[in-house]
Amino acid sequence: MLTMLKALLITPILAASFVTLAANIQVQPVSQHLHILTEQDYGTNIGLFKTAKGLVLVDPMPGKTNLARLFKTVSEIHHKPVTHILNTHNHEDHSGGNAYFMARGAQLVEGDAKLAGVTRVMVKSHTSTDNVFYHKPSNTIFVGDVFDTSWHPTFYAGGVQGFKDAIEIILQVGDEQSLIVPGHGALSDKTSLREFRTNTLQWVETVRVFRQKGYSVEKIMAENESKKIVARFNVQGKVPFLPDTAYKRFVERTIQVIERERSEGTE
Ligand SMILES: [Zn+2]
Repeated sequence: MLTMLKALLITPILAASFVTLAANIQVQPVSQHLHILTEQDYGTNIGLFKTAKGLVLVDPMPGKTNLARLFKTVSEIHHKPVTHILNTHNHEDHSGGNAYFMARGAQLVEGDAKLAGVTRVMVKSHTSTDNVFYHKPSNTIFVGDVFDTSWHPTFYAGGVQGFKDAIEIILQVGDEQSLIVPGHGALSDKTSLREFRTNTLQWVETVRVFRQKGYSVEKIMAENESKKIVARFNVQGKVPFLPDTAYKRFVERTIQVIERERSEGTE
């Protein structure tokens, strides 16, 4: 059943299966156990599921002005208040709604969740503490911004090694049918996560080689090989994909990671 749902979810038909309960918050019913809520313009994937201890929200941030709308959407789905909040990492676009829900009775669960059906693994890639949550009843893995299907990879805290370790650990969670919820972008699966890893490592290698040849940031940006790899991260076919400022920063931050790892001798 989940496989069928998942197949539907990751195809373009998805758009048609969205149910809009409140303006701009899209609700994807993944299974009887799980909904993914996403504010159209804000884009963070918010998980909503029920446990024996209550109603759980993962990364409840649809933008500061949309919190009341998120609250209302949750009430319309479950007719119950949110009791627990989980954050994949401590960045505003994921944790920015904590206070709003805590003021309304929810509790932020840090450390090990102790929620039946939920397990946590810690990795270091996007930030120094990235929480990966596995929700067993829906066979879903919340990976935060370790994996993003709407943007280029951002592995700046953990570097190449942290990124590789994180992906390897995520691949060991659940099974081949597990649904993967990236921090932003379309819901995904392990096959796409492996492709993301391949593309990311190829990106780093390409930048490394260009750097060794003495290329400037601008020259690296202009190379066809660089553009070709970056385009592979655009799995949703967005036009345009990366603004030039973001592309430039991606090259610069990749160079920083490469130089940091070289100086640490972990290359
Ligand atoms: Zn994010």
